[in-house]
Amino acid sequence: MQMAKKSNSPISMHMPRDIYRAYKKDFQNGNLTIGNVCNADCFFCSQKWNPPGVIKDLRRFLTLQEIKHFSSRYLNYVRVVGTAVHVNSGEFFLHPQAAEIINYLVAEKKLRSKHFFTNGMGLSKEHIKIMENTGMELSLTLSSVNINTRKGMMGGSYVNNKMAVESLELLDKYGVNYSVVIIPLRSNLDSGDLENTYKVLSKHKLQYVAISRPGYTKLTPAYIAEELALSNEEMWEFLDMVEKKYKINVSLPYVPKPEMRYEYVTDALSDLFSNSAHLIKKRKLFLCAESVKDILPKVVKKLGIEKYDIKPVKSKVFGGNIECAGLLLVEDYICAIEEYLRKSKKPKPEVMIIPRQSFDINMEDISMTHAQKIIDRFKIKVVAVGHYL
Ligand code: SF4
Repeated sequence: MQMAKKSNSPISMHMPRDIYRAYKKDFQNGNLTIGNVCNADCFFCSQKWNPPGVIKDLRRFLTLQEIKHFSSRYLNYVRVVGTAVHVNSGEFFLHPQAAEIINYLVAEKKLRSKHFFTNGMGLSKEHIKIMENTGMELSLTLSSVNINTRKGMMGGSYVNNKMAVESLELLDKYGVNYSVVIIPLRSNLDSGDLENTYKVLSKHKLQYVAISRPGYTKLTPAYIAEELALSNEEMWEFLDMVEKKYKINVSLPYVPKPEMRYEYVTDALSDLFSNSAHLIKKRKLFLCAESVKDILPKVVKKLGIEKYDIKPVKSKVFGGNIECAGLLLVEDYICAIEEYLRKSKKPKPEVMIIPRQSFDINMEDISMTHAQKIIDRFKIKVVAVGHYL
């Protein structure tokens, strides 16, 4: 007699346990994600070039029943909609039951943050009316107001790209709070398309335009990396120019300027040492992301911290141009600490201070590996500093 196959997860034979666990964690972290089906096909989409297996991939939408399952068990309240940490995410408004999902969350009083990410390519008048009625805030990834340029970047049909660009008029008309996200490309900057996009956007009622910094991994092909390889300095210079010229709010750049990062690191370390005075006398090893490696020594000096060493941690798993703490994995920390201990002539540190941004609410990295693994491996106390993802 043939035995019935055992279900891989509590709700569906079609969802392996690791994917179930990843969705559970995203809901626990307040990320409302609905699966990874997308009507765009951005040539630079990070989901295509991430190291395999690190971020989980369902390759379909969650059903409404599955969304209710995860929400009722694991979701306290929604921090953000349409983006995720442990799973690849898709286009929220493409979900056939997007309106029911919103209504369900409103009825359950779980829609606290109301911040939606969308590519705007399925954004209908009905969706915009729902946002108007519930006071939601929208973050629209536009990248270019030229429909052909946008289609070349983001794929999808001409009609859908037109819909995204034209949604600006509808959002203005219905008084929805919204901001626009731009993924800058080398060709768009050089051709003047990027400046023209800011010029057009300055005539709309959006709150601000945010730059999503081009990122690529070690697996991204060279021709894509070249398009994304814009330095922070040239982007800051460009943003200063359009801000002055078009009087447009360019706040919330994805990579803050050095002075903002300096302030953030100073605040985080001041808080840490005033709340944990016992750390002052310990031998400390600061493990930092490459993005703050030039800032941290200045902050530590300014705060008069003694008995320390600093080790920048390279992203080995993602590689490419990844420098932020949010994409550092336990595996990266272990490599960096091993290297430090091998080369350092100083006594072993008593405590290691690591950025909290590398870990979620459960102190797990993006691949769902717990920070405890670092403690178990080196038998050194670990303290996380700053905010979580
Ligand atoms: S809209 Fe986002 S998820 Fe969809 S293809 Fe583009 S980058 Fe990827």
